[in-house]
Amino acid sequence: MSEPMIELRGVSKSYNGRAVVGDLTLAVPRGALCVLLGPSGCGKSTTLRMINRLVPCDGGTIRIDGEDALRPPVEALRRRIGYVIQSTGLFPHWRVDDNIATVPRLLHWPEPRVRARVHELLEMLRLDPRIYAGKYPHQLSGGEQQRVGVARALAADPELLLMDEPFAAVDPVTRDALQAEIARIHEATGKTIVFVTHDIAEALRLATMIAVMDRGRVVQSGTPLDIVERPASDFVRDFVGVQGLGLKLLAVRRVRDRLQTGEQADGEPIDAGATLAEALAAMVARRVGRLAVAEGDGRVVGAIALGDLVR
Ligand code: ADP
Repeated sequence: MSEPMIELRGVSKSYNGRAVVGDLTLAVPRGALCVLLGPSGCGKSTTLRMINRLVPCDGGTIRIDGEDALRPPVEALRRRIGYVIQSTGLFPHWRVDDNIATVPRLLHWPEPRVRARVHELLEMLRLDPRIYAGKYPHQLSGGEQQRVGVARALAADPELLLMDEPFAAVDPVTRDALQAEIARIHEATGKTIVFVTHDIAEALRLATMIAVMDRGRVVQSGTPLDIVERPASDFVRDFVGVQGLGLKLLAVRRVRDRLQTGEQADGEPIDAGATLAEALAAMVARRVGRLAVAEGDGRVVGAIALGDLVR
């Protein structure tokens, strides 16, 4: 196996003598979208912030791409890491284009290259540059501000993207669109992303890997399917089950209601009239996170993924 992109070993952090992260170990493969999932207060944000050294850890080692992340000057480290938070952190008196250009300008990119990059990112986040480049943050909706926050984090093409509950404060429809955007960007750029959330549906939708946290430790890590199918403890089972899978709903909703029209997947298609519970059972039996979907006449009409079950 190739070296993990991020490796935390025995990492700990206490505040006022109370351990909020204790002996935490986690390896994130290159190109993964790793979701740190767990209840509020379990230490997800603190863990994320130790990776970019916004919070100094008390003990343990953190390696990024095989290198000790605790030694180099913090500016050099942060240049390699994009960071997105719930309250965007945009500079209120700067236009959208200047906000996005922050890091490239700190790195003294030539101005034409900065402008080209800003343009490219606005288009990637589906914000028309002619409309948005010159606006100020307060002139944008919450969802648009988050898009700008993501564009800014990606501006200097960091190797890693850390996202701390980035979509928690936006309405469900906007959140859905932003999640789709992150999935697309992850697929297009292959960047390693660590994403913090307490929302199981969001985790199942986005993650290639989930690390479930409880009281400052990782209690289980694996693919979304592993976590749903084989919870390692009662805590994980309760957290995943109670929170959201909504097993009763799964039994009444149809694949047709959640299908991604025109998308593709390998393997034998499932019938669009099947229940979501049947789709979940098929995913578990075949150990895949996606199924092709066909109508009764055998015509393949799209695909359904694990995350679609809980949307
Ligand atoms: P999560 O992201 O899972 O909600 P956090 O990492 O934000 O959890 O916090 C974990 C625990 O550490 C919480 O009990 C929180 O109150 C505490 N904590 C976080 N930051 C500080 C701080 N700067 N000072 C004291 N306690 C803190």
